Amino acid sequence: MKFIHSLFITVITLSLMTVPAMLLAKSAAENSTGNSVMDNFDVTKVAEHTWVVLGPTGQPSVKNKGFMNNPAFIITDKSVIVIDPGSSVNVGRALLKKIRAKTDKPVTHVFNSHVHGDHWLGNHAMQEAYPNVEIYAHPEMINEAKNGEAESWINLMKTLTEGATKETKIVYPSTALKNGEEIKIDNITIKSHLNVKAHTKTDAMFEILEDKVLVTGDNAFRARMPRLDDGSYVGNIKAMDVGLALDIKKVIPGHGPVGGKEVLTEFKDFLKIIYDTSKTLADEDMESFEMKPIIVKKLEKFKDWDNFDGAIGKLISVAVLEAESE
Ligand SMILES: [Zn+2]
Repeated sequence: MKFIHSLFITVITLSLMTVPAMLLAKSAAENSTGNSVMDNFDVTKVAEHTWVVLGPTGQPSVKNKGFMNNPAFIITDKSVIVIDPGSSVNVGRALLKKIRAKTDKPVTHVFNSHVHGDHWLGNHAMQEAYPNVEIYAHPEMINEAKNGEAESWINLMKTLTEGATKETKIVYPSTALKNGEEIKIDNITIKSHLNVKAHTKTDAMFEILEDKVLVTGDNAFRARMPRLDDGSYVGNIKAMDVGLALDIKKVIPGHGPVGGKEVLTEFKDFLKIIYDTSKTLADEDMESFEMKPIIVKKLEKFKDWDNFDGAIGKLISVAVLEAESE
């Protein structure tokens, strides 16, 4: 039924597409190796102009070929804006295929949420299809990417997917954003909210003003455990407060399902339980391993998050280190 439905949509879309768009769609499909990494994922409408492909919540793997983030796109009256085109050239090409199924307008602007490669290495596919595309990021994201992070992520993705991402080349963002900057693209305005240090030192959250949507990047997770090794609990909690103060209706997290502001409230709660409890118990001279059962009990409602058992110990150690350095 689903297949017949999507076949019907494809037929309709193809009949509406212009010839150059059909050629581009064909080349994007041919470029990907075998089945597209996104074939089994639907495009979800978030608001009038905003769409997202919700990736699986696991870690990069042979099975998901590196596709495990939430690439979003916004269709303006003349063009397409992409936020976080994924971890590889193939993920980016698969995203373009999804976009082409909705519109033949060109991708003119790309925004990268932070330096972790699962979100931005797909820039390669955007520039391959649209050589003049403008790519934006936090200034520190561009610095860190150019100072070794990009190469480490290229290698990490290649290892974790056993080579599925190997064709990917680094395409750095071209333009550094400023905090609070509003970029007007056709009938859409993208407002950037930059953090000093939250999930990393390189994060930007993007507010789509006309649609009342916030794309958080990895400042917010849902259904999957975060990594805070390069970040700060205090800063990440602050980023959630920034989001909560905005006039928004929908939130697209870095990983996991879309929701309303409860996405931010829930993740803030998650961070506060770990940080506040670690801090209190560290003051009582308790060691990380002794805190673990107490904190795990308080995190009952997050117990089903992907990789809970694998990540919780490290998250507590990071919290203790941060609390001690305060
Ligand atoms: Zn990240």
